Amino acid sequence: MKAHTRVVVIGGGVVGCSVLYHLTKLGWSDVALIERSELTSGSTWHAAGGFHTLNGDTNMAALQGYTIRLYKELEAITGMSCGLHHVGGITLADNEARFEMLKAERAKHRYMGLDTEILGPEEINKLTDGMVNLEGILGALYDPLDGHLDPSGTTHAYARAARMGGAEIILHNRVLETNPTRDGWEVVTEKGTITCEHLVNAGGLWAREIGAMAGVYLPLLPMAHQYIVTDDIPEIMDILKSGREFPHVMDPGGESYLRQEGRGLCIGFYEKPCEPWAVDGTPWDFGHELLNEQFDKIEDSVTFAYRRFPVLERSGVKRVIHGPFTFAPDGNPLIGPVPGLRNYWSACAVMAGFSQGGGMGLALAQWMIEGEVERDPRGFDVARFGNWTSPGYTVPKVVETYQMRFSVSYPNEEALPRGPSAPPRCMRFSTA
Ligand SMILES: Cc1cc2nc3c(=O)[nH]c(=O)nc-3n(C[C@H](O)[C@H](O)[C@H](O)COP(=O)(O)OP(=O)(O)OC[C@H]3O[C@@H](n4cnc5c(N)ncnc54)[C@H](O)[C@@H]3O)c2cc1C
Repeated sequence: MKAHTRVVVIGGGVVGCSVLYHLTKLGWSDVALIERSELTSGSTWHAAGGFHTLNGDTNMAALQGYTIRLYKELEAITGMSCGLHHVGGITLADNEARFEMLKAERAKHRYMGLDTEILGPEEINKLTDGMVNLEGILGALYDPLDGHLDPSGTTHAYARAARMGGAEIILHNRVLETNPTRDGWEVVTEKGTITCEHLVNAGGLWAREIGAMAGVYLPLLPMAHQYIVTDDIPEIMDILKSGREFPHVMDPGGESYLRQEGRGLCIGFYEKPCEPWAVDGTPWDFGHELLNEQFDKIEDSVTFAYRRFPVLERSGVKRVIHGPFTFAPDGNPLIGPVPGLRNYWSACAVMAGFSQGGGMGLALAQWMIEGEVERDPRGFDVARFGNWTSPGYTVPKVVETYQMRFSVSYPNEEALPRGPSAPPRCMRFSTA
């Protein structure tokens, strides 16, 4: 490890690696990333790997489009596979309000150069080979960019592209302290001390602990999240035999996302009886383990999914993945310069690293190098939460945001903090 570098990025998840890559892409090569274990050792390794552009914030949606388009570029630069499946995806509307919202999204997409379409029930039926029960479905938004990838392969591709641009990556080296200096920061690690001009906190599940080293409270919280992978499904095998793949299906009415996984399906839920994880702090020895299955939390969601996708009821469960990932109180990332600290940058609370990681890496690198972001960052600027935030605010707001992940949103609405068991009162579409 060098004694000095221009930038130290803490954390080798998909977000830290994307930030590192974008710094080199925009011309800063004297940059280093420090990871306490192997790359992907936080939320990243157990992600379902789905990606899509839908987001209630227009600029976030555009940056999600950038993220998805970047994958082919990354593959071409590095010669590595991101395990891309650009299968296209639909978001179902089972009531008028949601259908109107999807049409409004479509209008915004046109303006942003995203090529989405509104589909009727017959087109949905054709696209999904009759595997969606269309009872009550009014239509859907189709996005050809939606798909899924290999989370580990993609993170390593970012890392290789960054190394090719001159970046250094130091593994198995936990950052213990961050201290401000006259010219920047001193970063004390298990393997020694390195100084830098700029410090980036991309600590994911540990971003709160890393923030605390600099005396900063970052308003984010990990939530426990589950998805199920099924055994092989004959209907999916037939689709594969015909040389096609099953598209992504988001069903906001059922709070679920569904996609093909191998010769079966994978379905994840944003269940109402959700649970925050590690409220008082993420243990340093957590990393490569999963949480115990908790079927009772998702029982109602699974029952709903059996009605919407009858094929699931006939399928065996191969495995259940239950792991934590972080959210800010409004569900969008915390990116940018942390107010009150010189050259201290946040790249935290990216709750959909594979839809958002590329765009957030680009935005942060532009902010650091060029002094401004090409797209309006209001939706993801860390400074939108002032020093009035506290765990007492963050915890109920994050729970609410998780519960309302697939709800309909209305312009300028502000959701009220609510307890974990209360039903949502106003509706929002803070998808990512
Ligand atoms: C079950 C599940 C399914 C998901 N499915 C999807 C999906 O389909 N699509 C999608 O886009 N997203 C999905 N996600 C979310 C996705 O996993 C996260 O958005 C993403 O992994 C966040 O990446 P990160 O780099 O911010 O954080 P992390 O992956 O948590 O990385 C942080 C890194 O920082 C390192 N670190 C922490 N502290 C220190 C320190 N002191 N010194 C050095 N290194 C340190 C850690 O070891 C870790 O490697 C899912 C998450 C879960 C839990």
